[in-house]
Amino acid sequence: MRMLDLIIKKRDNYELSKQEIDFIVKGYTDGLIPDYQMSSLLMAIYFNGMSDEESTYLAMAMKDSGDSFDLSAIKGIKVDKHSTGGVGDKVTLVLAPLMAACGAKFAKMSGRGLGHTGGTLDKLESIKGYQIEMSEKDFISQVNDIGLAVIGQSKDITPADKLLYALRDVTGTVPSIPLIASSIMSKKLASGSDVICLDVKVGSGAFMTTIDEARKLARLMVNIGSLAGKTVYAVLTNMDEPLGYNIGNTLEIKEAIDTLNNKGPKDLLEVTFEIGALLLEASGISSGLEARKLLKEKIENKEALNKFIELVEHQGGDSRWIRDYENFPKAKQVIAFKSSKEGFIEWMDTEKIGISAMLLGAGRETKEDVIDFSVGLSFKKKVGDHVNIGDTICELHANDKGVKQALEILEKAIIIGKHKKEVILIEEVIK
Ligand code: URA
Repeated sequence: MRMLDLIIKKRDNYELSKQEIDFIVKGYTDGLIPDYQMSSLLMAIYFNGMSDEESTYLAMAMKDSGDSFDLSAIKGIKVDKHSTGGVGDKVTLVLAPLMAACGAKFAKMSGRGLGHTGGTLDKLESIKGYQIEMSEKDFISQVNDIGLAVIGQSKDITPADKLLYALRDVTGTVPSIPLIASSIMSKKLASGSDVICLDVKVGSGAFMTTIDEARKLARLMVNIGSLAGKTVYAVLTNMDEPLGYNIGNTLEIKEAIDTLNNKGPKDLLEVTFEIGALLLEASGISSGLEARKLLKEKIENKEALNKFIELVEHQGGDSRWIRDYENFPKAKQVIAFKSSKEGFIEWMDTEKIGISAMLLGAGRETKEDVIDFSVGLSFKKKVGDHVNIGDTICELHANDKGVKQALEILEKAIIIGKHKKEVILIEEVIK
């Protein structure tokens, strides 16, 4: 087989076979296929797409390029969730302990944030002492003991995806539905859970800005999962404004703790309950309205909060910080971003809002950047809220970095007008 022939085949819009895709992934991971040929193939895929079968072969080949976790030693059905990336998305922090409090087995490998999106690992690492690295054996025994573990992805998982993602990043080929779907699903399949719920974000702060694109991505990932023998659901959720009110690592942990103390924002609870009910049903624990009742109860009676404390303690974190979040270090200054107009907040450019938080130091522009856990944005008003001139729309929690730029970006990111708009949060569920 020659890489050149496969590039030409894809350029001319023919389907690649499993053997051909295996050859490409193995050859590239082993360093036998040069970047210039792989880049050319990626661009052909970007323009011509891939069938569901090709996308599945690609996901499986990337999964098989490294280790996979075998979670069969965990008793019961193992559930996992994955978000395609958003702003203020702290669902995992609430959902993981909530699932465990309901008796499910939640086994999750999370990722870091990049660019305007945040990552669960960074948020958890803002808790003093929290360890994200764990062997497969310890991961299994923790899930068996307390019902949950949230760790970082082992470095030996999906090396092909790591190499390909880095190449896509510099060749303009990240926003390709089959490439995104196979990248996400390769990691999900390698992490070994039986049931996966995908939170596919759609809107101004998401990879997919239209519902049609989000639906295509979601359907493809669900198909890849079922062709690989897993149960996969997708929930399409709105990202035309941040989820909850806070963006930034410590601020998001505090909002998650508030939520587990039954004082959470409505939108965060709604997404958490939607995904939670699907996972409870797949686990055979409860379904429909009963499942929602159970989820609500576990928040109200603080069992989910206690599970979060257990999680933090098992992973080396200082749970005093969860019991009293005044222990978290605070940013030096809190600056109000005020409205210069009267009216309703009609629209938010959520990507810009994420960038504004990143410029304060809450996120990374490049993989090498160091995060400042204490900084971020805390919103007081969101889409549909009325503001008068001088009302605070959000507060910037800042240290020495990025304040001027962050304020300039916010100025362009929030549109105030005459109409009271409503955000529809759960757009669709795909099973
Ligand atoms: N997240 C991933 O893991 N891969 C992509 O390609 C895009 C988002």
